[in-house]
Amino acid sequence: MNIQDYKGVFVFAQQEDNKLAGVSLELVGKAKELAKDLETEVTAVVLGSEIGDMAKKLGRYGADNVILADDPGLKVYMTEPYAHVLTQIIQEKKPEIVLYGATAIGRDLAPRVSARVHTGLTADCTGLEVDPETKNLRMTRPAFGGNIMATIICPEFRPQMATVRPGVMQRIHPAGESSAKVENYKVELPEESFNVEILDIVKKVSDKMDIQDAKVLVSGGRGMGCPENFQLLEDLAAAFGNGATVSSSRACVDAGWVEKDRQVGQTGKTVRPNLYIACGISGAIQHLAGMEDSDLIIAINKDEYAPIFEVADYGVVGDVTKILPAFTEQVKRAIA
Ligand code: FAD
Repeated sequence: MNIQDYKGVFVFAQQEDNKLAGVSLELVGKAKELAKDLETEVTAVVLGSEIGDMAKKLGRYGADNVILADDPGLKVYMTEPYAHVLTQIIQEKKPEIVLYGATAIGRDLAPRVSARVHTGLTADCTGLEVDPETKNLRMTRPAFGGNIMATIICPEFRPQMATVRPGVMQRIHPAGESSAKVENYKVELPEESFNVEILDIVKKVSDKMDIQDAKVLVSGGRGMGCPENFQLLEDLAAAFGNGATVSSSRACVDAGWVEKDRQVGQTGKTVRPNLYIACGISGAIQHLAGMEDSDLIIAINKDEYAPIFEVADYGVVGDVTKILPAFTEQVKRAIA
């Protein structure tokens, strides 16, 4: 392998039901930064059916080029057809970097493609940067249960591939117009790619807002004491109105108090709300990894030495069951 032959930063731009995943736009923005350091271009690759509309959006968010692999066989995600087409594109175009969202789809697809193109893959990265001297991609991720941050390089193979969790990178401000060059990639899917037949897709219906979309997160930890006390968090979120919802630490998810999709942290979701209110959460490193970039953090904890206070902008030392009702009343009064 002559690594000098590999040029450009590619992003697998994931779509479902012809809607681009938010993480894909975040990655295109990050790719733009990396491409600047490498003096190269960003290419977003979309696989699906009737996906032409997506090229403009990707262009506005930073893609210089968009490759559309448009075929009815790619309408719904299936491992084999997607892995086949993406492998072909990578083998043909020879990018130096390929980024994927660490979504269920990205986590299924990226390892298969990396094995087929015979390169490495760093999963769940929280940081990506170009080494100014070697020009290798430095891929940083938590390791050993989040106790250390490991920076991984892939100096001998190309492309350098990484998955990045949603919410870790920030989208760039979109341009008014897209100037991306669009290529319609000719898809040829062998019969044997369709080794799975999807009979039905049952979507989980949730009436709650995704915690990654919330502007205000009222988050509860083990210190809430029991699942019934989560109502205090619901009341505070309701007082803030639209854009506020309840999230949680892993301890409460493991205890079965709340659904897994509410979990913030290294093995949950990464969130960046305007306001994060941590209630009865100690501030373990794995929890902080998912919320410390929130704009404003308020912590309520009865232990004044709890590590959460080290990242909090405001701290209240006290019992959540007493503080929360008073806090909710104040918010109601202020917002009324
Ligand atoms: P605790 O650590 O038990 O803290 C409870 C806090 O509540 C204490 O600080 C206590 O002082 C306070 N408290 C108690 N009673 C009251 C009261 N009445 N009023 C006010 N304060 C009170 N954790 C995550 O959250 N997200 C993750 O994604 C995650 N991923 C992990 C991945 C790995 C590989 C590992 C090993 C761990 C992970 N964890 C994660 C778990 C993490 O290490 C902690 O165990 C967890 O975050 C603790 O949750 P907690 O803060 O709710 O509970």
